[in-house]
Amino acid sequence: MELTQKDKEFLLNSIREINDFPQPGIVFRDITTLLNNKEAFNFLMKYLKERYKSYNLDFIAGIESRGFIFGAALAHALDIRFVPIRKKGKLPYTTISEKYSLEYGFSEIEIHIDAFSELDNPKVLLIDDLIATGGTAIAAANLIKQAKANLVESCFIINLKELQGSKELEKIAPIHCILNL
Ligand code: AMP
Repeated sequence: MELTQKDKEFLLNSIREINDFPQPGIVFRDITTLLNNKEAFNFLMKYLKERYKSYNLDFIAGIESRGFIFGAALAHALDIRFVPIRKKGKLPYTTISEKYSLEYGFSEIEIHIDAFSELDNPKVLLIDDLIATGGTAIAAANLIKQAKANLVESCFIINLKELQGSKELEKIAPIHCILNL
């Protein structure tokens, strides 16, 4: 199923723009308005289910925290498992962690060491709401590989393409972005 320009505009119009949040100069893409819009959320989830039902995925891995919302809903729709990738210090069991650089300083995300261990070379889809510089998603992709899973695609609702993150991530695994801004 290919989305038309009209479909994309419908989705884009459901996402609110907040200027200068969380700091001056940033246009924050607020997906809470999409979640609050039953038609838009249903349309998005139907589209994702349609796209990924033929991929024979074993897991969806979602990046904290907005990736949890779309990722868990999609895992349920596809009747497959969900794995959270979280900020450092939140997961209670033994973890693998990966540092990545932000504009100023570093951040770190983690995955449980046994997140994928029940299956051999399982197929995983990584999901988040937005890719900007790609730092978070590249760290998440590395974690999935270190946890011995096969990252078949990474999916984002929004790609801020000027920031080039999608280009960098593409070097590691295929990527699908719904709205390229
Ligand atoms: P990055 O690591 O630079 O690709 O940043 C991606 C992460 O930061 C994602 O988890 C996004 O939810 C969040 N993020 C970055 N920029 C924005 C933005 N302009 N609006 C909303 N979320 C953003």
